[in-house]
Amino acid sequence: MRQQHYFLPTLRENPAESETISHQLMIRAGLARQLASGIYSYLPLGLRVLQNIQRIVREEMNRAGAQELVMPAIQPAELWQETGRWDAYGPELMRLKDRHDRNFVLGPTHEEVITSIARDEVRSYKKLPFNLYQIQTKYRDERRPRFGVIRAREFIMKDAYSFDKDSEGLDKSYQAMYDAYVRIFTRCGLHFRAVEADAGAIGGKGTHEFMVLSEIGEDTIAYCSSCSYAANLEKAEVVKQEVQPLEERKLSIEKVSTPNVTTIEELSEFLSVPREKVIKSLLYVADGQPVLALIRGDHELNEIKLKNVFDANVLEMATPEQVKEWINSSIGYIGPIGVTGVKIVADYAVESLVNGITGANEEGYHYVNVNPGIDFSVHLYTDLRNIQEGDVCPHCSDIIQFAKGIEVGHVFKLGTKYSEKLGAVFLDENGKEQPMVMGCYGIGISRTIAAIIEQNHDENGIIWPVSVAPFHVHIIPVNMKQKNQVLVAEEIYQKLKNTGLEVLLDDRQERAGVKFNDADLIGIPIRITVGSKVDEGLIELKVRKTGESREIKVDELVEQIQSLLETI
Ligand code: ATP
Ligand code: MG
Repeated sequence: MRQQHYFLPTLRENPAESETISHQLMIRAGLARQLASGIYSYLPLGLRVLQNIQRIVREEMNRAGAQELVMPAIQPAELWQETGRWDAYGPELMRLKDRHDRNFVLGPTHEEVITSIARDEVRSYKKLPFNLYQIQTKYRDERRPRFGVIRAREFIMKDAYSFDKDSEGLDKSYQAMYDAYVRIFTRCGLHFRAVEADAGAIGGKGTHEFMVLSEIGEDTIAYCSSCSYAANLEKAEVVKQEVQPLEERKLSIEKVSTPNVTTIEELSEFLSVPREKVIKSLLYVADGQPVLALIRGDHELNEIKLKNVFDANVLEMATPEQVKEWINSSIGYIGPIGVTGVKIVADYAVESLVNGITGANEEGYHYVNVNPGIDFSVHLYTDLRNIQEGDVCPHCSDIIQFAKGIEVGHVFKLGTKYSEKLGAVFLDENGKEQPMVMGCYGIGISRTIAAIIEQNHDENGIIWPVSVAPFHVHIIPVNMKQKNQVLVAEEIYQKLKNTGLEVLLDDRQERAGVKFNDADLIGIPIRITVGSKVDEGLIELKVRKTGESREIKVDELVEQIQSLLETI
């Protein structure tokens, strides 16, 4: 490609409101442009990278036995009503009407469509298993689109769906996808971890997220410093620990005046007690029912764990009115003592508290010397809190550490949730009707570009891994007025292209400094500079990643580049 007429608008300045390096560099290096919030065009250079990622994804999906198809982005509302997701998906679902006033959605994902295809076309166990995938544009009206293409409203996803006759089959399909994902992200040059995650609203039994380790990641990963355990914070299990109470002798409960003291911090300061002695009481509504959750003052409630305890579809914090109605208290003074008609669940760590402090369900008052089991009882002690750094690993006895991650992929055992709702059944070996057992597997193709940039850049620009680079080699004639430089650059360009490499020739009438800056910014792995020494048959070869440069003879070029591309 000749750069003179290549559509590659680079920028010196960072765009306004770009919070992350990858967002800045994608705009500055001319990969993408924003059309509206969370909606992007990919310019030619960006599209090349997208296509390279897609090629890797296709190769590995095909290798794993999946078959490519394409489904429509526009989907009829009826299908979504059948699975209940027309309501459950909420405002993230982009809805529209046709001219006959019929409702449609712009697909955020394709479980409904793929399951309806399987339902209509598959009758017998003999056709199972199969795995279908597509690479396609998805729509989600995200509450907070941000970080450029990382959280967009229109984005490109690879989504695959497996259909098996039983759960053993699903386990195999799942493992094949898991292994393919490891190969895909490794080939994309990423440092990542597969972490256990919560099954969430999609339902199902097992799920892993593929997380690219990065400071800007929106997810927190809890991982063990010695074994292979890694889980999303929302999922990471806190095992019940034997805790030595701060005090031995249990004292009698007492009501104390705590005017205008409503937060844990204020309370621990006001009473001069450590936060560990406070029992935080939080009133929630789980599918319409009130539940009181108790955790220790120095811990954080994990709402997903609470939601899972009640197997609830919707869990919300109670409003001040509901707090008044159900436990006759005001926010800031809630406590478990004297509460009736409300399920009380407590975190393991609350059980061993001695002489704790709780709200008195009365404005301006707390109880001190509260002892669980004596002063109040709970329905269940369980794991309700977020794991913390330094906690014990649930798999071995070492300690947990935290890292931040960008979710680039997700594998999920759906089970029969969609096949049952949509009637995707088959006849088994005994002629008995069974629901198909499904898995779904997503990769954020467009998010992956940004994740690659987050992990591969320096202060001058992007450093593409060879596997996804838009071009392999960037040729820069230093002085376009020197005929010989232009001539040799042109010769090299043709020669390298003939070997099958992707080559960009900077034939612009620009100063060398401008060309070099742009070259660093767009980050092609190998740069060849054709300068004055070309008269002696010498050119410079520079590796973007290491900065290493060497002078070589023109006729050694092809060999040198080929071996370099294999090693960097
Ligand atoms: P997130 O928690 O980041 O919103 P998700 O759990 O909603 O992700 P999935 O439904 O599992 O995502 O979608 C599969 C993949 O699609 C994700 O792993 C991610 O890489 C990508 N993805 C999801 N939402 C977006 C988005 N708004 N913009 C870009 N990529 C996305
Ligand atoms: Mg999401």
